[in-house]
Order: sequence, then structure tokens, then C-alpha cells
Amino acid sequence: MRIIRGIAASPGIAIGPAHVFQPEDLHVPVQFVSNPEAEWQRMQEAFQKAKNQLQEIASQAAGRLQQQDVAIFEAHLQMLEDPELQASVQAAILHEGKNAESALMENAERYAVQLESLNDEYFRARAADIRDVARRCLRILLGKPQPDITLLQPSILVARDLTPSDTVLLDKSRLLGFCTAEGGATSHTAILAKALGIPAVVGAGPQVLEIEQNQQLVLDAWHGQVVLDPSEDILKQFQDKQRAARAQAAQERADAAKPAITRDGRRVEVVANVGHLDDAHQAVALGAEGIGLLRTEFLYLDRQTEPDEEEQYRAYRAIFEVMGERPVVIRTLDVGGDKALPYLDLGHEENPFLGWRAIRMCLDRPAFFKTQLRAILRAAVGHDIRIMFPMIATVREVRQARALLEEARLELEHAGVPFGRQIQVGIMIEIPSAALMADALAKEVDFFSIGTNDLTQYTLAVERTNKRVAHLSNALDPAVLRLIARVIEEGHRAGIWVGMCGEMAGDERALPILLGLGLDEFSMAPTLIPHAKALIRSCSLEACQAIARHSLTLSDYTEVETYLQAVNSLA
Ligand code: PEP
Ligand code: MG
Repeated sequence: MRIIRGIAASPGIAIGPAHVFQPEDLHVPVQFVSNPEAEWQRMQEAFQKAKNQLQEIASQAAGRLQQQDVAIFEAHLQMLEDPELQASVQAAILHEGKNAESALMENAERYAVQLESLNDEYFRARAADIRDVARRCLRILLGKPQPDITLLQPSILVARDLTPSDTVLLDKSRLLGFCTAEGGATSHTAILAKALGIPAVVGAGPQVLEIEQNQQLVLDAWHGQVVLDPSEDILKQFQDKQRAARAQAAQERADAAKPAITRDGRRVEVVANVGHLDDAHQAVALGAEGIGLLRTEFLYLDRQTEPDEEEQYRAYRAIFEVMGERPVVIRTLDVGGDKALPYLDLGHEENPFLGWRAIRMCLDRPAFFKTQLRAILRAAVGHDIRIMFPMIATVREVRQARALLEEARLELEHAGVPFGRQIQVGIMIEIPSAALMADALAKEVDFFSIGTNDLTQYTLAVERTNKRVAHLSNALDPAVLRLIARVIEEGHRAGIWVGMCGEMAGDERALPILLGLGLDEFSMAPTLIPHAKALIRSCSLEACQAIARHSLTLSDYTEVETYLQAVNSLA
């Protein structure tokens, strides 16, 4: 028996034989060519062949594919036609004389890194798509076959890492779990595993590749470990745990639509973070009481021109209709700085996270901003819609944003276009200055939603995408907790509600502290909702208040984590 440790990326236990998937490594030849025109022609032929392959797979698999898989094919086809990528590859070949393979891979990688820096699951998935579709073209250029995974029996899939197209044709009914050598908690494998609700351990290192075909495994994705050739005793223990966990998860899902009320009667709202229409359907199915963060970025990226009012109106309306009467907090555009939207001319910045992002860019482009505001106002008719401004640092910005919202309203009024009139207006609290000014800001708005991803980054001065300083970044740090406590207290003093839509809201370890601090609304990935609601029902507000009070007195996040573990083992 041997144990390999990795990162728990999607919880659960899987027991079964390994299916080892090891596609051949691809080497990218780097050369200069004597006939760039002919090389560009070869590149275009490869793009065309890749398109044909994708269309062929899509038609073979028609009817068998799930919604998210269809989306992957569509995204890949779109990327093959992306003029920005095409133009940069063309320039590298025609102007710099590079060979097709290196021109393609360098430019695809640059594009993928840009998307990854947005630190959002949706965009990270797009980065994986770009790398994936580029490798498809590379294989075509090198004359290599495309890899294929066929599971002949229920198995745990073991691989170095998995790309979206590796997994598209996978028979998911035979898939017990994933174990990968590479990848982090937000890799494609992790996202897919969470969406399918199956266990995954990722980033478990090269030892994973020594696992043999059909070797018996226990994948313990609660603790991020893989047990190879488990003894009878261990196997029995895990089988019992697996049964209990399945029963618990089934119960939590059955109870998902019920409210989240603590044992001593405090009710909080549990709502979803949503990036596009599919998430909204999933959110409703998993018991979301609304949307606490609708990221509107999805409409603006991966395209050459800005979406017009009509297109935005239809996209928002479709999501609002799925949510029916449930409240939806829709966040105005949060891009800029680190993501060059070709039609926005954002320019280069040395420190994009401290730059012209989100509301800052929108306030400087009133016509562009008001297009989005009008689309939201129109789509809001008949729904409970709340508009939220991101990256607010000062009171003045809130006033400016509200003034533009008022202008958008008047424009619709004058044009005789119907729009929603009962709309709450709120802000994200994700910059320390906003947390410190919460008393003043609370007088300007109807609600706050705390964005702990950015609040942690700015409080601890740790860029959220920089792996070298990642160990310093933790929302449980008392410095961040003290700001959260202040925001909730000042919000309540002014009579407004306070929610949270950063990742921390879905972190079960943080839940007692946030309940204890008085948070009113928890917004998280839809799949986390049933378990979060179950946990809230098992808590007592009074006990959580004591936990919160004590956590605020500790000196760093390691102390908070140790304390929470101790409290949990007592509970
Ligand atoms: C946050 O900063 O916590 C947040 C929810 O916004 P985003 O991750 O989209 O920046
Ligand atoms: Mg943010």
C-alpha cells in the first residue's frame, strides 16, 4: 500500500481501477523559414483541418454531448477564427519568418496567460481552451494523431493533466474520479469534476504517472490523497466512508431548496455566483435563493466589437427569467488593465491590478457605461434586480456612478422605453479604502457585497495571480477579518444589508466566523450551496459569535486556521 498526496479539488471518495491516460509529449520545433508565404499557407491549412476535426467530432457525438461540452466545441471553433490570434500568428510567420509551430504556440500561450491573469474560473477555462485548440493544430502540423480516452469499465482516470477536449468524449457514466500529476484547484480537471460532482485530486506530482493500468486505487478527495493497492481493512474503511458521504450529499441536495436557518433561528440568504446562463439553471436546481454576483464580463470578452444594448438586454433578460422572482445582483463590467479588449483600447500598464479597472474605466467612458446600464434597467422589468458597482475606492465614485445610472434612466424615460423602477443599488467592498470608509459609503447605497478575492489581495499587498507570494494571501488573515467585521457593522448601523461574493463565502471553514460577524447573504459557486445550507442549519449563532470574536484577536491566518480546526473537532 502506498499513499500519494495532492490537492483536493472536488470532494468525495472514489474506489476502483486506474485508467492511465498518457498522450505523447509534443515538442515544438523553433525555426526560421525561407518561404514565409508557404509557411502561412501551411498554417491556414492546419487551422482548416482543426475546424473540420472539431465539426466531425461534434456531429459524431451529437445528442451524447452535455451542454458544457457543446460549449467547449463552440469555444474552440471560435478561437480558430479569432482574428486577433490569427493576425498575431500571421505576423510572426510573415514578418518575423518564424515557422508555423513556434508562431502558433508562442502566440496562443501569450493569449492564454492574459486570460488566466483575470483569476476567474470562466476565463481560466477559456485559457485552457486556447492551449488545447493550439495543441490540436500543433499535432496536425507535426502529423501526429489526436489522443483518445476510452473507458472500458468504471475507472479512476489518471493523467499528467487533462485538457477540455481530452474529456469531451469521455463516457462520464464510467468515470469514478480524476487524479492528475499537475494542475491546481482551478484547473480544467477541477472545474469539470466539480460540475460533474465527482471526486478529484490534482497536482499530486510525477509519482502519479507511475500508477499502472488497472491498479486498484482509493481516491480520497476529502483529504487530497490517493491510496495505491489498499489493504482489505483500509478498503473497508473507505467503502463505509463513501457510503456515508453519498448518503449525506444526497440528503443535502434533497434539502437544498429549504431555507438556511441556524439552530437558534437566524436566517441568512444563500445565493449563487453566476457567469453565464448555464450557471443560472444549475443555481436554481441546487437551491440558490437568488444570484449574489452576476459577472457580466462573459459578454464582453473573446470578441472584436462591444456588445450593443440589444444583445446585452437579451442576455441579461434570459438569465433574469431563469431566476424568476428570486433577487439578482448584477455587477457592472469588471474588466480592464490586465485584459486588453481590442475595442476598448486599454493600453499597457505596469501594475494592472492598481490600474484602470472596472468602475474606473466605466466612469471615464460614460457612453459605453450607460449602454450597459440601459440594458440592465430594461431587462429588469418584472424582476427583483440589484445593480452593483465593482472596485469602488471612494464615495465620489459611487456618486458619479449613480449619476450616470440616473442619466440612463432619464434617457429611457424620454424615449418611452419600459424599464425596472424598483432597483436597489449597491457596491462591492473589495478595496481597503472602501472598507475603512464603510460608514460614509453605507449612506450612499442600499447594500454592500464584500469581494474577498480582491480585498485580500489589496489588504496584504499580494497580487492574486502571483504564485511566489501566494502563501501570504489568505482571507482568514485577521487583517482581512477585521475589515470584514467593520464593513458588516457599519452596514448594519446604517440599516443596509451586507453580503459576500468572494470565494471566502463558500469556504466552509470561514462560515462560522462570517455567520458570527452577522453577514446577511452568502454568494458562492452553485455546487457548494447544498452543503453550505446544511452547515448553516447545524450552527448556533451564539457559538459562531464567540468564534468570530476570538478569531479577530489572533495574530495571523495560520492561528485562525488552527483555531477553526480545533473548534470543528469539538463540534
Ligand atoms: C472579489 O474580488 O472577491 C470578487 C468576487 O470579484 P472578482 O473575483 O470577479 O474580482
Ligand atoms: Mg473583485
